Amino acid sequence: MTLTTHAVMGAVIGQAVGHPVLGFTLAFATHLLIDMIPHGDSKMAENFHVHKVKQKQAIAYVMVDAITAIFIVLILANTKDVESLRAYTWGIAGGILPDLMVGAADIFKTPFLDKFHKFHFFFHNFFTKRFGDVPLAHALLAQIVFIVILQRVL
Ligand SMILES: [Zn+2]
Repeated sequence: MTLTTHAVMGAVIGQAVGHPVLGFTLAFATHLLIDMIPHGDSKMAENFHVHKVKQKQAIAYVMVDAITAIFIVLILANTKDVESLRAYTWGIAGGILPDLMVGAADIFKTPFLDKFHKFHFFFHNFFTKRFGDVPLAHALLAQIVFIVILQRVL
């Protein structure tokens, strides 16, 4: 999923539980679970991690996504009635941290990050390895619809 989807999902989880530690933990776990849904980026991830091709394209994709995520959560925080800013922000952190740890694992080759990288992609590739992926454009459109629905919960 996009960082934007994970960030909004984390914000909603944080807001729903109203507790920073619980929001962070549930958002972190939810990241891994919703990543199991095929979301069109398997080829890009494989190109980046395995074949080491089109890496600038993947980095550009993540940068645009990260910038979008920052502004979406800012807009939501400034337009919605956020009851606990602490839970909201810790939920966002838990929601996006798994992908940031994957990015860190690509740079800092530590045993812990390497294990986490494999753990993350166990979930991420769970269905796509067996049944294939969906087109990225369809997945992005579905995530936009999902975010529009999710932000109404806030
Ligand atoms: Zn992920």
